[in-house]
Formats: sequence, C-alpha cells, structure tokens
Amino acid sequence: MLILTIRLLNALVFKVVASFSVSEYYFDFSCGCILVWVMEIGGNSLPSGPDGVKRKISYFYDPEVGNYYYGQGHPMKPHRIRMTHALLAHYGLLQHMQVLKPFPARDRDLCRFHADDYVTFLRSITPETQQDQLRQLKRFNVGEDCPVFDGLYNYCQTYAGGSVGGAVKLNHGLCDIAINWAGGLHHAKKCEASGFCYVNDIVLAILELLKQHERVLYVDIDIHHGDGVEEAFYTTDRVMTVSFHKFGDYFPGTGDVRDVGHGKGKYYSLNVPLDDGIDDETYQSLFKPIVGKVMEVFRPGAVVLQCGADSLSGDRLGCFNLSIKGHAECVRYMRSFNVPLLLVGGGGYTIRNVARCWCYEVYTLPYYNLHVAPSNMENKNSRQLLEEIRVKLLDNLTKLRHAPSVQFQERPPDTEFPEDDQKGVVLHGEGTDRMADDTSCARVLDIGSMSIEEPVSEKVEQESLNKSSDQPVPMYTKP
Ligand SMILES: [Zn+2]
Repeated sequence: MLILTIRLLNALVFKVVASFSVSEYYFDFSCGCILVWVMEIGGNSLPSGPDGVKRKISYFYDPEVGNYYYGQGHPMKPHRIRMTHALLAHYGLLQHMQVLKPFPARDRDLCRFHADDYVTFLRSITPETQQDQLRQLKRFNVGEDCPVFDGLYNYCQTYAGGSVGGAVKLNHGLCDIAINWAGGLHHAKKCEASGFCYVNDIVLAILELLKQHERVLYVDIDIHHGDGVEEAFYTTDRVMTVSFHKFGDYFPGTGDVRDVGHGKGKYYSLNVPLDDGIDDETYQSLFKPIVGKVMEVFRPGAVVLQCGADSLSGDRLGCFNLSIKGHAECVRYMRSFNVPLLLVGGGGYTIRNVARCWCYEVYTLPYYNLHVAPSNMENKNSRQLLEEIRVKLLDNLTKLRHAPSVQFQERPPDTEFPEDDQKGVVLHGEGTDRMADDTSCARVLDIGSMSIEEPVSEKVEQESLNKSSDQPVPMYTKP
C-alpha cells in the first residue's frame, strides 16, 4: 500500500514536471522497463548502448540550485536544473549513478582563472548595495544580461564546485563520466561576466583536468560560441576547443571559421560557424567527421562536452532546428571514444525541453514523448557551404603537430575540499562501502530524503523581453 501510494505520488509530481500523463508514466514504470535495467545493469553504471560497456557515472547536483533566480523576465532559469533532476529521479536513473552534492568552490579555486578583484566583487555585491557600486558593475559587465541577485556568489560557488568536483573524480579514476548540468557557463571571462555567466566553471574544470592529463579536448554544442573557454586556452596546444554555433549577427559575435588559435595554440581552436535552421542530419554531417578527426590527431586524455540545449528546435533564444535525439547523438558519439568525459550544461531557455534533453542524454530512453521534433523551418545551411566548412576545418587539422606532449615536473595537488562532517556516511541506500573513503570532492546526496518540488509557475516566461540594455550585443534582447 505504501509503495502504491509513493508511486501514485511520484506519478502526480512527474506529471507536473514532465507534462506526461499519469497513466503513461505509471504504465511505463510498472511494466518493468526500469526494473529490467536494474536487473541487467546492477551497481551504479549505465550501459553505453551498442558497445555494451558499463560506465561509472558521478552526477553532481545541489538541491538549492533551482532556487537561484536571475529576476523577472530573465530567460536563464536555474530551476531547469531541478526539473532535469526530477525527471532523472522519476525515470529511476539516479539509482544507477553516484549522486553527489558538490562542495562549493572557494575564492582561491575561482581565482585559478578569475582575477582576485573580480572574485572579491562577486562575493560582496548584493541587490541592496549594487546602486552604490555602479562603476564596478560596469567594469565587470554585471547588470543587464548578468544581473545581481540574491545568493549570486553561492550560485557561482555551487555550479563551479560541481564541474571542478567532476574533474577531480575523473582525475582519480573514480568515474568514467561526470555530469554537472548546473555548469557549462562558457561565456564568463577572467574579469568579466558575460551572457548569463559569472564564473567560468568549464575553464576551472579543464585546469583541474590538466593536472592529470597532457591534453584536454573541449567540445561545445551550445548555439552560442564558447568564447570564454576559447579565449582562456587560445594560445596553448594542451587544450583544443571546438565550438559549433550560430554565427553572424548573433551573441557573442565571435567564433569565425578563421579564428584558429594563436602562437603555440595555432590550429588548436576550431570554430564551426552555422546558420539558422540547421537540422540533425546536416549538423551531424559536420560534427562527426570533425570531432572524429580531432580525437584521432589530438588524442585527448579527457574530454569536456558543453551540452547547451539552446541549440534545440524551438528554444526561446535559439534558431537551430535540432531534435533532442540529434543533440544527444553528440553526447553518444563523444562517449563512444571511452575517454574520461565531463558533461556540463549551458544555455537552454525553453526549460521543459532542456530538462527533457539533459534527462535523455543521461540515458537514451525509449520514450518517444521526450523528444522535440524538428519543425519545417528553412535550413539556411546550404550543402555547399557546409562542405566548404568541413573541408577547411579538416585541412586545418592536418596542420596539427600530432598530439603534443608536455613534460611534467611534478603533478600539482588536487583542488582540495574541506572535510565533510558526513564523511563516510551514505544516506542513499547503495554504495556505502564505495563512498566511505571518497568524499574528497563532494558530499553524497541523500536522494532518498529529497523532495521533488513542483516547478514554479512559468508566468515569468511571459515577461516582456523588450528591456533596454547598455550592452552592445545583449544575449536576450534579440532583434
Ligand atoms: Zn547559449
């Protein structure tokens, strides 16, 4: 009776979050799909599809992250992370992953990339005091696209802590794939906020991975150019950045196919400029040959994939025409290489689709109603143009010196996190032994006691977007 009650309760909450019918969910769940996985998979690893190889997954989630609020009318909604988590919970996927609450990144962790005065500013600014700091706000580009809101610094610490924690886990070989959907804020610069991003968790995670790996590959499938990450590693051959994005009269305005890196980093930045309406087929006609070639010649020790979901069809700010299946194909392809993989989130502004997409990417579920179908919008990416881009980029890759190596003097110490009071205590049912000596980068989350909350009303979605802005190329005041 208790189980039945819980199931019905779950089904009801699930209906709210995912717009599924209770009967569909209940039927799917009770017909044994998920139970079959439990029996077949066991442990906390997921099968990876055709190759059947199990992969251990660490999933970072802070139950507070959904409460941060950029403000009325702002398209960036951390609540989508909570929606994703709710979907994962209700599909029974959390039980196959190690669910971890990230330790918040500290000042000195953030300062590994960001300027001290910028971090100090982020820590001290509040909605109440911002009027007294107009010069600072302008200097650090905080205000419009990147507003000051309650708990801003904690939010930065949380999403950065997840990505860095994931990198530490991968470095220790404690998982094969680490996931932090709250991360992926790829526009943030050393001393400047940009495009809804304050600190660049991706850069921080890559710096952590570089302690262990000679070469790290960064791939970005957000519709916006991954400018902050590219800029951070533009002159090094130890990090290769590959970004697929809308180019031309679009935020942030960078990412030309001719931008290939500089100095030692020449040809270690790759940009794939695309136009409106690109669909699954044409996207993959570039993604696979280019990324496949990069994997072959660069041979990274670890890969970071930014899974921005604003490249999906029907995104509030985007103009691509990818289905969830097409988007997830990038994830599937990347993990097929069996290289330690950090998955982070990013953009994504039609939030129900974001949650569906990231849930689907954790595991390719056979639920057709998770999908966003492409529309009949015009695909402005002509085959001829795509072919030119493909040939050009593959030609650039032939100029790479194969897999550069570095001489390690001494391996830098890990980013350490404070000892946790709950060290060794696992509240979630399984894996007590596994986690007893493994709280170096996160707390084990008690997913058993977590409540799945209903999404807040989406009425804020209706807010006018016609806000005036001082930013030259604002992200969300599109023409
Ligand atoms: Zn984006």
